[in-house]
Amino acid sequence: MIDRRSTLKLALGSAAMLAAPIVRAQNAKPRTRIVFLGTKGGPRVGIGASNPANLLVVNDTPFVIDCGMGVSRQLVSAGVPIPSVKYIFISHHHSDHNLEYGNLFYNAWAAGLSTPIHSFGPKGIEAMTKEYWELNKFDVETRIEDEGRPDPRKLLIAKDITDDGVVLKTSDVTVTAFRTPHPPIVDNFAYKFETPDGVIVFSSDTAYNPKLAEFAKGADVLVHECLYIPAVDRLVATTKNGATLKKHLLDSHTSTEDVGRVAAAAGVKTLVLSHFVPGDDPLVTDDDWTRDVKTNFKGRIVVAKDLMELKLPV
Ligand SMILES: [Zn+2]
Ligand SMILES: [Zn+2]
Repeated sequence: MIDRRSTLKLALGSAAMLAAPIVRAQNAKPRTRIVFLGTKGGPRVGIGASNPANLLVVNDTPFVIDCGMGVSRQLVSAGVPIPSVKYIFISHHHSDHNLEYGNLFYNAWAAGLSTPIHSFGPKGIEAMTKEYWELNKFDVETRIEDEGRPDPRKLLIAKDITDDGVVLKTSDVTVTAFRTPHPPIVDNFAYKFETPDGVIVFSSDTAYNPKLAEFAKGADVLVHECLYIPAVDRLVATTKNGATLKKHLLDSHTSTEDVGRVAAAAGVKTLVLSHFVPGDDPLVTDDDWTRDVKTNFKGRIVVAKDLMELKLPV
């Protein structure tokens, strides 16, 4: 594409170059990309990778999937204006996925938002949205009056998801929710985005769930959380509640070996590993993350990094 554009510009000369953007717009194919905004699992904030958040852009419409701490800043770093966000999806109500939900919206409003943002999440997101306005009543009402801003409470439209199924259908994207266990949490949804450039599934945090492979069957991209068990042993060796913490992590997340099983059973083209648990162990290499995945999955594997971009079609 770049090469063709360059050739076109050279051939037509400088006067015609002014018209080039129009030519591009008419010929533009639907453009779809994923940006991994935050790849570290868990709520602790560090100086390394940011907490969980993903961005999907389809035809210039940004969808944010999960709002861990840092999501607003990461969007700015990715060159995406915050007020351009149209949809927010929360997978579950662990704080590493929703802590910056209200503040992401607030930051869009602070940067000049004038059109609504629709948010979706498990039961509780409607109540959380209402309570966010209580928490920030003073600031919001002061700024509406004092700075002449629109009332943000009318611009954030939240919807609780209670069942599996289609939750959003736009002219070019269909989003489907699928409940997956993340003990002790049951209100937890993986999301499938059907776009003109392919199908993308975000696993959410999940225990090993073979049914997720059916939901992701034939997807172009599966973004799956992962747990590296040898590093968990190191992590819990240093904590007082080690045995309990290890049990929690093993019961509620998916080991790298099992991630490979899900990706293979689903037959996805590209598997992206993200939401790393533990997320900030410098001793864990990309080889460690992929070694056991490869025993079961022979397709393309991407180890996500913050702000890495994946273009579709893959
Ligand atoms: Zn998480
Ligand atoms: Zn979680």
